Amino acid sequence: MNQEKLHILLVEDEIHLARGICFNLEQEGYRVSHVETGEDALSRLTLDRFSLIILDVMLPGIDGFTVCSKIRAMETRVPILILSARAEEGDKITGLASGADDYLTKPFNLNEFLLRVKGMLRRSSWYQPEPVEEGYTFGENEIFLLSYNARTAQGEIDLTELEVKMLALFFQNEGKIVQRKALLEAVWGYSSEAETRTLDNFIVRLRKYFEPDPAKPVYFRTIRGVGYRFNRKGS
Ligand code: CA
Repeated sequence: MNQEKLHILLVEDEIHLARGICFNLEQEGYRVSHVETGEDALSRLTLDRFSLIILDVMLPGIDGFTVCSKIRAMETRVPILILSARAEEGDKITGLASGADDYLTKPFNLNEFLLRVKGMLRRSSWYQPEPVEEGYTFGENEIFLLSYNARTAQGEIDLTELEVKMLALFFQNEGKIVQRKALLEAVWGYSSEAETRTLDNFIVRLRKYFEPDPAKPVYFRTIRGVGYRFNRKGS
């Protein structure tokens, strides 16, 4: 099957609506990542590349228009579809002025929505040049999550799907403790006490790749009884 599913980022704080949108987009064969705030969207964008962003305006933190401007300031290619509960013409103009490519007012018809998405993806695939991935660096390492490889002090290595998932989670939560349960769920899709050895072995592997001294880790630290913390600067 098609390995290269188009990846869509949905930024929507109404959970029921978000679930419906995700379900329908996945039925259409797209891969969807969902976040509930603009802040989360911006941090996802530093790690992942998306073919389309669907962005709600009324969000709990920074609003969709601001998110849109910030996205445009950092990544100019990705198409953005704004979803708004407000129908005023002024909002539409604000949306388009902040860099959105299209605008849909809630409540919307599902077919109309899917047609817009399809249209935006088709248009964008014509003119989007393949962007060169910027690596995520820490210490002597540079990690390329999209290309599944890394440059380390020991040379270039290939990364597995699970390693990439785990690194992405650590990078997103840089400086914060990530609980074992959260890691197991995000990387393996379940959390069971029986599987904690799998997780520990994984961390050992990451340390072997990326730590100057795997026995005395400075980037991937164990927080006893809780989980792990990744620190970009080392500690
Ligand atoms: Ca909202």
